[in-house]
Amino acid sequence: MTLTEQIKRYVLDNCGMDAVGVARADALDDERGGHRPEDLLPGAKSVIVFLKRIPDGIWQAAFRAREDGNADARSIYAAFGRELTPNLNLFFMSFNLAQYIERTYAFPAVPVPAGEMQNVTPTNTPLPAFVGAKHVQYVLHPARAAVAAGLGEIAWNNSFVTAENGPRQGIGLVVTTMELDCDAPYAGPRLCRPEECGVCARICPTHAIPAPGGESEPFEVGGTAYRTACINANACAVASMAFRKEFSGKADVPDQILCDDPDDETLKKAYQEKPPAYWSLGHHPDYYCDLCKLYCPLGNWQARFGDAGLSGFDGKAAVK
Ligand code: SF4
Ligand code: SF4
Repeated sequence: MTLTEQIKRYVLDNCGMDAVGVARADALDDERGGHRPEDLLPGAKSVIVFLKRIPDGIWQAAFRAREDGNADARSIYAAFGRELTPNLNLFFMSFNLAQYIERTYAFPAVPVPAGEMQNVTPTNTPLPAFVGAKHVQYVLHPARAAVAAGLGEIAWNNSFVTAENGPRQGIGLVVTTMELDCDAPYAGPRLCRPEECGVCARICPTHAIPAPGGESEPFEVGGTAYRTACINANACAVASMAFRKEFSGKADVPDQILCDDPDDETLKKAYQEKPPAYWSLGHHPDYYCDLCKLYCPLGNWQARFGDAGLSGFDGKAAVK
C-alpha cells in the first residue's frame, strides 16, 4: 500500500468518513490571498479532502418542519444536519488526521475548519459572515478543494454536490507539506444541469438565486474554468437568517427586513440589532431556509425522499 493509500484508509476506516480525495495544493492557487493552501502552510503540497454524508433521517426532519409544520423537527436538522454534529465530527476528525500524519510521517499537517466551526466571530463583522465583498466565510474554500480532489462538482445553487448524495454531506480538510499522489480535479459526468432543472432558483423565497442562464460567477480550479450562479447573499440572508417572521423557526423573530433584497446598510443595521440566538452554536444561525439544498434533486432525491413518502414536494410548487 502506498503512503497515500494508507492515509486514505485511515480517513475511511479510522475517521469513519464516506469518501476521500487528495488535491494538489497548487490547484487552489487561484483562491484569494490569505486563503490558499500555501498561505496557511508554507510549502503545502497536498490537501486531503474528506466527506461525511448527512443521514437521510436528519435531512427529512427538515421536511417535517417545512411540510408538516413541526417546528421542533427543525431542531433535529439544525443540530445534526447543519451546526453541531457534522461540524464537530469533521472538526475532530481533521484534528485526528493532522495528528496521525505528523505522528506517523513527520510532516506538518494543518486541520482547516470548514462550515460553521470557523474562527469567525459574527459580532466583529458588520455584515453576516457570508455576505459582502470581504466575506469571511472560508479559511480555505471547502467546495473548491473538494472539486480539486476529484470528489464532485459545485452546483448552480453553489453547493458542493456528489453523484451519490447531492448536496447532503459535510466537508473536512487537512493541508500538509507531504507530497501525496494527488487526484485529478473532478471530470466526471455533469451532475447539475440548471437549464433542465432550476428547482433551486424557482423555490428560493427571496429570489436570491438567478434563473438558469442568469448571472453567473467564474472560478478556476487546477486550471479548469467553472461557473456557478451569482447568488445575491443579501437576499439569501433575509430568509436563511430569518430577518422576517415568516422565516422564523420554533422561536419567533421580529419583522426586521420587509423587502427581499436589502442594501448593505439595511442588512448591517438589522444584523446589529438582531437578538442573539443563545440556543445555537452560532449566535446568528443561517439554517432557517436551505430550500435550495433540501429540494435539490441530485443524489437520487426522488427515490430517497419523494418515492419513500418522506416529502410531498413535486419539484414545482413553492415550499414555505
Ligand atoms: S436544484 Fe437543480 S439547478 Fe439547482 S443546484 Fe440542484 S440540480 Fe442544480
Ligand atoms: S438558502 Fe434559501 S434564501 Fe438562501 S439561496 Fe437558498 S433558497 Fe434562497
